[in-house]
Amino acid sequence: MRLVLLGPPGAGKGTQAERLVAHYNIVPLSTGDLLRVAVTAGSPLGLKVKDIMARGELVPDDLVVALIAERIDAPEAKNGFILDGFPRTVKQAQALDRLLSERGLKLDGVIELRVDEDILVDRIEKRIRETKAKGQTARADDDPVVLKQRVAHYRKQTAPLSDYYHQKGSLLAMDGMQGVDKVEADIERALQERVSVGG
Ligand code: AMP
Repeated sequence: MRLVLLGPPGAGKGTQAERLVAHYNIVPLSTGDLLRVAVTAGSPLGLKVKDIMARGELVPDDLVVALIAERIDAPEAKNGFILDGFPRTVKQAQALDRLLSERGLKLDGVIELRVDEDILVDRIEKRIRETKAKGQTARADDDPVVLKQRVAHYRKQTAPLSDYYHQKGSLLAMDGMQGVDKVEADIERALQERVSVGG
């Protein structure tokens, strides 16, 4: 199973990705997580992207595309993967198309979690509170000012992907404002319908 998960920051992509990973025995490929690991490790990639990420801006395409290519080629991904946070722009989506077709692979579906923007701030504030309650440090970009910037980037650069994948017939749009279990059930149903019609 090869999937893409789309949705603005705070839409619940991480939670749904975890559930899909367990259900289909596939690997999660979150560019945000992979980049944060690089920043924490202080690797050459991490040093390049640290400040860009803290400002809520997008990291250059060549860096994220190379990161994804490497992970798709890894043996752990042979059963499939779920991309979370990539592609972020139509240009990245085209790069992903090329990457997959070069390997004779294709996506089984693109799941979009739709959430109203005013709900996102509440969700991110909750994530910050929960992280702090666990005694952990909140993400540098989980901050109300940076969040607005990230949502604006999403609206401008990532939301057009919805049309891009709709035109290709691979978009599965979900109401991401429902409870976590309901969203999960909707995704499962949509994927099963897709598989049963041979989509
Ligand atoms: P996320 O965890 O998906 O919200 O990503 C956190 C940050 O990582 C973003 O604000 C960007 O700075 C960077 N990032 C993650 N994925 C990408 C991507 N596909 N393209 C460019 N930058 C990305």
